[in-house]
Amino acid sequence: MVLDITTLRVALGVVALTQLLLFYASFRRTRSSYNGWWCIALLFFLSGNLAFLLNGTPHQVWANPSGNVLLVGGAFSVWTGARSLRMLPPPKWQFAAACGITALASVLESPGYNTWSGGLVYLGFMTLGIALASRDLWLLDSSYSHVHKSMALAAGFLAAYYFCRLSVYVVEGPTGPNFRLYFGPAMASLVTLILLVAVSFSMTALSNDQLINRLSERAARDNLTGLLNRGTFLELATKELQRLQTTSLVASLILADLDHFKTINDEYGHAAGDAALQAFAVACTESVRSTDLVGRYGGEEFILLLPGASQERAEGIAADINRALAETKRLAGIHIPTASYGVTASSYDGVDLSAMIAAADAALYQAKSLGRNRVVRAAPHP
Ligand code: GH3
Ligand code: MG
Ligand code: MG
Repeated sequence: MVLDITTLRVALGVVALTQLLLFYASFRRTRSSYNGWWCIALLFFLSGNLAFLLNGTPHQVWANPSGNVLLVGGAFSVWTGARSLRMLPPPKWQFAAACGITALASVLESPGYNTWSGGLVYLGFMTLGIALASRDLWLLDSSYSHVHKSMALAAGFLAAYYFCRLSVYVVEGPTGPNFRLYFGPAMASLVTLILLVAVSFSMTALSNDQLINRLSERAARDNLTGLLNRGTFLELATKELQRLQTTSLVASLILADLDHFKTINDEYGHAAGDAALQAFAVACTESVRSTDLVGRYGGEEFILLLPGASQERAEGIAADINRALAETKRLAGIHIPTASYGVTASSYDGVDLSAMIAAADAALYQAKSLGRNRVVRAAPHP
């Protein structure tokens, strides 16, 4: 059976265009960046294929290198989309380097009459881009539906196919019998066509998951400071204490309240008050480990749960927060009030969260009545 390359390219183009319209409609609804990057990838694939249709015409000299670059851009867009599911930033320089090197290699090998100019570099970057996408899809966490595994396998299969194309290309060149039969443009278009259908199948599930994850992340956080909101903090802290109970590890809890905060609002305005709250939140997150929980408990009250930290260690962290605050005050010139802290540890109060909060609150009250700007340790249980 002889596969006609022009017909296959047109079929691939029609499928990609249909998919682009469907994916775009879905992107308008979900605003999922995975979905958005797939729209960009399809635009790259479509225009790359159009460029290849000009092979054999006088336009080949610019169209063929452009086709190579556009398809590599498509593969790297698929990778960028997969990274966005893992909240990783776009790989800007890798993207630019892959496209730039492909362009250079394609231009240097007489693209006017050589349809495989830059073929080695083109196949290499296609393999790399798709393989990296497969890896990132495979590594997604459990907040994504299992369909990500099938997507990772489909991308892995395509990367393996491109790797075989590359190897056979190296061994026998683009005119070799095996390359022409199994790895030429016609077979590659057919394989891509099949895989595009597989992508459609998983797109809705993965972009919905991304939308849900984004919304739950937003719902879990306080939108002024970016810290956990009260509800999420209490939920996570309860779970963490239950987990610690099984390992008999201690945990410490800090309640912090900014001193005379109302006067910051009154004297410098509400925006200055907001800036002070944000600065305090940054000082807190800078002073703890990534496994500690930091939340905004109320207006100018903050709460921290430090698993594995003794009461002394927690007092040290309160001092670190004050140091970080003083540094911000010095560097940014923000009006930041002092803070009072109540500290308790689970070894004194058991592992009941509400008992720990009550103990820390009583200590905080005492810190206020002793003149503020200090750390007070909760009284041990009688
Ligand atoms: P104390 O030292 O006793 O804690 O005095 P205070 O002034 O800090 O405490 P008080 O409870 O009297 O005032 C808290 C103020 O925090 C009142 C409220 O307007 C302000 N506040 C609460 N939430 C926000 C916010 O999101 N932004 C700003 N700018 N102010 C807030
Ligand atoms: Mg208060
Ligand atoms: Mg206060």
